[in-house]
Amino acid sequence: MEDCQLEREERIASYPRSFVRFLGTAGSRFIMLSQRRSSGGLWFSYGGAMGVIDPGPGSLVRICAACPQLSALDINTIILTHRHIDHSSDLNALVEGMTLRSAEKRGMVLLTDDCVSQGDSVLLNFAARKLKEIPKHADGHRTELSPTATVESVIHKHHGIQCYGLIFRGAGLPTWGIISDTAALPDFPKRYEECGMIVINTTIPLPRAGLEHMSLSDVRSLLQVLHPQLAILTHMGGWVLDLGPDEAVGDLSTEKTRVIAARDGMIVDLEGQNPIQEG
Ligand SMILES: [Zn+2]
Ligand SMILES: [Zn+2]
Repeated sequence: MEDCQLEREERIASYPRSFVRFLGTAGSRFIMLSQRRSSGGLWFSYGGAMGVIDPGPGSLVRICAACPQLSALDINTIILTHRHIDHSSDLNALVEGMTLRSAEKRGMVLLTDDCVSQGDSVLLNFAARKLKEIPKHADGHRTELSPTATVESVIHKHHGIQCYGLIFRGAGLPTWGIISDTAALPDFPKRYEECGMIVINTTIPLPRAGLEHMSLSDVRSLLQVLHPQLAILTHMGGWVLDLGPDEAVGDLSTEKTRVIAARDGMIVDLEGQNPIQEG
């Protein structure tokens, strides 16, 4: 066990103290199915919490392939913003990693009520029995991630299912957030105003009837009134990828906000002067 402990410490020491790693940046069923971009979600380390947000297909594979090394055995938290398969398919495999070495119930999975209700749970009973906590999102509620960090749930509007964005706050740590799959909502500028960094699922170039996803033009409008230092666009669909993500975001930056397109494997040091590192 001592060797394992040392390995874990080495793994953790090879990354910044507080960071996000984009395990995947895919943003539609078509991109997920072709794996033109990976659909692994986000790895994060923040205030003593270490975990994965929206582990879609390939999340475990991208964790095992990461350099520096990551391990599903190290996580204590999994968050699903909603139940769609590109956000949830690897959930049970990651619960297996999170609970493998513990005889006690361990770890937390934060998800929506409709992830586990309606007779079609994305969390297997077999996995749920091993978990210490399975809290549900509620708009405005701050779920404790650790004694020093919380995540607030922000209600979204997404194709008739429950979906929530996230705002992370921690003692002495920068506040950051995620706008997940959603139509652009008028209260986003107010809700996310504390965030110095914001990740925005930006799936389409322009708003389109019947698609409740953020578009590049929604991001442009949002950044006229919301001013994080850094906005990172991810969850890109084929139309955005065809534009060339770097070109597509090229004119979205403002005087106050730098906008970049995420790449698979990209690392963001949440406390760094130069936050972006290629993975
Ligand atoms: Zn979705
Ligand atoms: Zn999605």
